[in-house]
Amino acid sequence: MVKCVFFLAILLMSFSYAQTIRVAVFSGDKINRISFSYDISSYSIYADTLYVGELNKSDFVDLVALDSSKVKLIFGVLEIGSYKKIKLIQNQSHGFLTLTQKNTEIKPRKYVGDFEITRNKNGLSIVNVVNLEDYIAGVVESEGGVGHHLEYYKAQAVLSRTYALKNLSRHEKAGYDLCDRVHCQAYLNKWRFSNTILQAVAETKQEVLSHGDSSLVEGFYHANCGGQTSSADYVWNESLPYLSPVIDTFCIHAKQANWEKRISKAKWELFFKEKYFISESDSFFAFEQFNFKQENRKAFFISPKYGIPLRDIRDEFNLKSTYFSCFDEGEFVLLKGKGYGHGVGLCQEGAMKMAKSKFTYQQILMYYYSGTTIVDLSTIQNKSFFNKSSKEPITFETYFENSTAEKME
Ligand SMILES: [Zn+2]
Ligand SMILES: [Zn+2]
Repeated sequence: MVKCVFFLAILLMSFSYAQTIRVAVFSGDKINRISFSYDISSYSIYADTLYVGELNKSDFVDLVALDSSKVKLIFGVLEIGSYKKIKLIQNQSHGFLTLTQKNTEIKPRKYVGDFEITRNKNGLSIVNVVNLEDYIAGVVESEGGVGHHLEYYKAQAVLSRTYALKNLSRHEKAGYDLCDRVHCQAYLNKWRFSNTILQAVAETKQEVLSHGDSSLVEGFYHANCGGQTSSADYVWNESLPYLSPVIDTFCIHAKQANWEKRISKAKWELFFKEKYFISESDSFFAFEQFNFKQENRKAFFISPKYGIPLRDIRDEFNLKSTYFSCFDEGEFVLLKGKGYGHGVGLCQEGAMKMAKSKFTYQQILMYYYSGTTIVDLSTIQNKSFFNKSSKEPITFETYFENSTAEKME
């Protein structure tokens, strides 16, 4: 009997990993009015605790942000009232809706799963409550684009899944897990175009990247490393054994491998003087600031003794990467740079090329994350991120009770 209960518990645990996550969509935009229209599956509409009705074929609901911290609900042409929270709950799994913003240039988007809409200080807060694997398919398409090899998509899926689970508490205070921007991971639509992406997500279902003590890695990735990935501490002041720099010959002829930018010398000089108090009598700095070179990636500009992290320069001048060298061009300093992004972890264009050259997704991940292992979620010892699942609906009632979306952003 005891044995039976034990196996039942194991069985239930493995089912519980089919979890949903809460992603704020249109999170970078100020939204005052949005329309949800039918695509696949009917949806039940709830306004606070009131059941309003069903959204069926050719139906739509309009939601408007009101000053009173409430949301006005219009069902078709019928004004229903104003409420604190509106929920749209799918009646069949994998249902999805089209979200159209009125009076803005932003294109309509489609998202799969449920929706919770509240008022926040910017307008409407729209949280998509989505199955993890459906979310990953949307992320892989948003982050990787279409037309790539299956093995690249599989590597991206494992990494995006790892990153999502590792960062679930990022926006906890605002009442959701992740945003839909690059800050977390781009999630600009549900999966739409490439069947190869769906195949990659399905074939790597529940797989994550883990290291030594069987916890999740920080699943960082970027567009192009420029030929050498960054050490984690170049970017976050924290070194991680599985994220040591890698020489990458796969990405150096790719689209984002090189860039150039001209900046006026006066502006360049002023930044160092004002922010780092570099003395005018420092003739070494005066010369080097226009002639600094990086054969290999460095963390600091000119010398660590000046305490100028290259990432600060990247932020200030909006550069594609920190991997650049300077050339004196009279009135301007010419920056010739390599790569695009922070350079830590997997290089997407390198991984795409590896996949084309017949490397498997396991080999791709091990190339950028040496010493890590691909494991099934159920084998991860530290499951603190699964505590989140206690918020998820077992029944509709518990869904309401446990939801944190009441909190304003
Ligand atoms: Zn975020
Ligand atoms: Zn690379």
